[in-house]
Amino acid sequence: MTITGIVFNIQRFSIHDGPGIRTTVFLKGCPLQCFWCHNPEGLKLKPEVQFFPQRCILCGECVAICQQDAHSIAVAEPGTAPLHTYDRERCIRCGECIEACCAEAVQFAGKETTVEAVVAEALRDRAFYETSNGGVTLSGGEPMLQPDFTRAILQACKAEGVHTAIETSAHCSWELLQKVLPVTDLIMMDIKHLDSEKHRWATGVPNHRILENAQKLAQTGMPIIFRIPVIPTVNDTPEEVSAIAAFVAACRANNPRVSLELLPFHRLAGDKYASLGFDYRANDLKTPPKEQMAAFLAVAKQHLAEVISR
Ligand code: SF4
Ligand code: SF4
Repeated sequence: MTITGIVFNIQRFSIHDGPGIRTTVFLKGCPLQCFWCHNPEGLKLKPEVQFFPQRCILCGECVAICQQDAHSIAVAEPGTAPLHTYDRERCIRCGECIEACCAEAVQFAGKETTVEAVVAEALRDRAFYETSNGGVTLSGGEPMLQPDFTRAILQACKAEGVHTAIETSAHCSWELLQKVLPVTDLIMMDIKHLDSEKHRWATGVPNHRILENAQKLAQTGMPIIFRIPVIPTVNDTPEEVSAIAAFVAACRANNPRVSLELLPFHRLAGDKYASLGFDYRANDLKTPPKEQMAAFLAVAKQHLAEVISR
């Protein structure tokens, strides 16, 4: 039986998604809705149309081809430049305009693909994995939202002798996680807040499942990199960082292969939010200064030595 899934990006030569040089496969759909997410095109499970007006050369091909009249180019006022409008409500995602647009101003975020196609793409860089101790990472979105697809890709990579990692929120059942563990070499997961109500405010979901799964994962003895994405207004106080580091230190007490990374917020995704018709609620947030990240690193190191800040 062919197993298929929805993927929105396959990033080759990735160096921040696990050890060595990696191919990162981004799966679509996420049960969390973190308002600062760098990959908003991964939030919804279904493929979506993205429109990037800044790339548009106003050739009019999409206007001519769209049977739904979802694209229009008009001059709002005499003497002003023509304006291209895309009406998401009219669009039935047929893809005709995407084929027609030579400027890549209209694109699909996400497409259905097979395990074989993903693995074939990933194996193109096998030589780089071997020389750098790299491999394949499944990210998203949330890989565990497409568990059969995720497991099958990881299994096929393992069968080829390729190191495997997943980046997961772990906001899923323990039974699902258990199914992927035998074919996973490394887990990377965020701990965004220890207070469940604040976690819900920031991500849309409470944290109890995530914390329980983190503890269970630690008890397996497998390598785990816990991450704190340091987000202004969410968790950028010494107390909040300290509480998470203490939690990770307790996990490490059961598993010496547990480590922690601090990742500063970066405002990267504004164009992508606009292209999907989403609000970017993190637009006013600033990257935490280096001095602040250094202070958080010192706070975290009071709980465990195995912590780095990027
Ligand atoms: S086809 Fe592309 S470049 Fe041409 S008008 Fe449409 S979006 Fe703009
Ligand atoms: S995807 Fe199809 S319906 Fe949607 S805007 Fe393009 S041509 Fe029109």
